[in-house]
Amino acid sequence: MAARTGAQFLAGLSATDREVWVDGERVADVPSHPKLAGAARTLAAVFDRQHTYAEDCLVPDPETGEPINISHQICKSRDDLQRRVDGLSRISEYTVGLMGRTPDYMNMKLASFAARWRDWAGADGTNPDGAENLVAFQKRLRREDLSLTHTIIQPNNDKRTDSAIIGNTVTLHKVGETADAVVVRGARILATLAPFADEIVVYPAIPLPRGAEDYALSFSIPVDIPGLKFLCRDSASIDADPFDRPLSSRFDEQDAFVILDDVEIPRDRMFLDGRPGSVAIYNSVGRTGLLDNMSTQTTIRALNKLEFAYGLGSRMADTLGDRSPATNEMLGELLSYVEVTRSAIRCSVAEGYDIGVDGTWFPGGRALTPMRSLLAVWFPRVNEILTLIGSHNLLTTPSRALLDDEAMRPLLEEFLHGADGVDAEERAALFRLAWDFLGSNLGGRNALYERFYLTSAARNRVTSHLLADRRRADELVDHLLAVGRGAGTDPTGR
Ligand SMILES: Cc1cc2nc3c(=O)[nH]c(=O)nc-3n(C[C@H](O)[C@H](O)[C@H](O)COP(=O)(O)OP(=O)(O)OC[C@H]3O[C@@H](n4cnc5c(N)ncnc54)[C@H](O)[C@@H]3O)c2cc1C
Repeated sequence: MAARTGAQFLAGLSATDREVWVDGERVADVPSHPKLAGAARTLAAVFDRQHTYAEDCLVPDPETGEPINISHQICKSRDDLQRRVDGLSRISEYTVGLMGRTPDYMNMKLASFAARWRDWAGADGTNPDGAENLVAFQKRLRREDLSLTHTIIQPNNDKRTDSAIIGNTVTLHKVGETADAVVVRGARILATLAPFADEIVVYPAIPLPRGAEDYALSFSIPVDIPGLKFLCRDSASIDADPFDRPLSSRFDEQDAFVILDDVEIPRDRMFLDGRPGSVAIYNSVGRTGLLDNMSTQTTIRALNKLEFAYGLGSRMADTLGDRSPATNEMLGELLSYVEVTRSAIRCSVAEGYDIGVDGTWFPGGRALTPMRSLLAVWFPRVNEILTLIGSHNLLTTPSRALLDDEAMRPLLEEFLHGADGVDAEERAALFRLAWDFLGSNLGGRNALYERFYLTSAARNRVTSHLLADRRRADELVDHLLAVGRGAGTDPTGR
């Protein structure tokens, strides 16, 4: 089938009888449900966009030559890496980065795993069929242009004991086997995009302790498989005039708590089935390029969102005639986040490298790694800056209905216009957009998303330190220690 259109994507959603609960109701048809329709339409437009911008967003499938989304591409050169950046940016600019889980997010991960399929077979070849299943799945994913959700984190029940894993009956684990399937039971957080996905992928995340084989599972299954249940959070979607709710009416991608109630996973869908040796594979496959490929997508998305936020803040200041040093400084701060993020993406391409496997190129990770913790801290500050610039003006925003009221309109123009000839409608549109970004249910969810969707900033800092290449830092310390001992004076040792 190759790259799908929006209409094909929507038809696929309607054809699947998934168990999705939203606001206490089991959803019968996703594209027509009032709490889901807005985002379904937006995602359909994202699918259409790959055809509109085919030169950026599509590449030929390496085997069939059919057009596939660029996020499926396994890059073979630096030029490929740059093209992928351009294509991903084209996709994410449509939602100004407000939808984090457009399907390119998961496509990038599966392409990264498929490029390193040998890691999935295990160092001593214990999992050859799992690796084969993974490669076959990535092939199907790119050719059928599926939409994926994923869930990789165990729920919090008791933080004192959760991480021990072994004996934990809440988190996903293997409970049995049949001739054709592995039976799994348990829960996972938090499947963003679940109502809009064709399949759900479970793959390795936080390392498991030795002996936790029953928890070392990875697979992809259709969302209508018996026993799979999605419990969506309260909807942030508002079926309103887009003037009033420009974001909430279109961009609620949803997040679902996932229950797998004795689900039978067909063996040919298992990438890791808990056999002996699975923990070693589980604990290693996430460390061989996944983070950098994933962070390419997330950093590009973040850049679009930061650029939008900078534009929004600047336009609010203009509309209020606000030229105060405080506001200019905050806008300069926003701009610095934009440019550092842009530089990280550029560095990742410039430092891209041949990984030494099948001619595959991965982006350089040095500049992307810190973005995983920095962005989680910057985005709350972005919201704070926009709030400080907007202040009460975020709430003095007449609605579409009020602006259309013939008696009220002259008063609104008289009392609620902006600086430099900005009329009441233009001003209301801008500050409504800002409030939907900051203060709506969707704005609150998006703030939580930025803090946690890649785990907390704290966890990312710890991981980056523990995995860091410290050679240069050590060299400089040794240099001055040597000086103190009266030895060499050159950090290179010459
Ligand atoms: C909107 C949203 C969407 C999401 N979508 C998905 C999804 O699609 N798929 C998926 O699998 N998951 C998803 N997640 C879940 C996400 O992966 C988890 O929320 C994330 O792993 C964080 O886990 P946690 O909540 O237990 O936080 P933790 O990382 O445990 O952090 C909780 C608190 O502990 C602190 N902390 C943690 N470690 C340290 C440390 N070492 N030192 C100091 N402080 C520390 C943090 O600062 C934080 O305040 C989503 C989450 C959100 C909020």
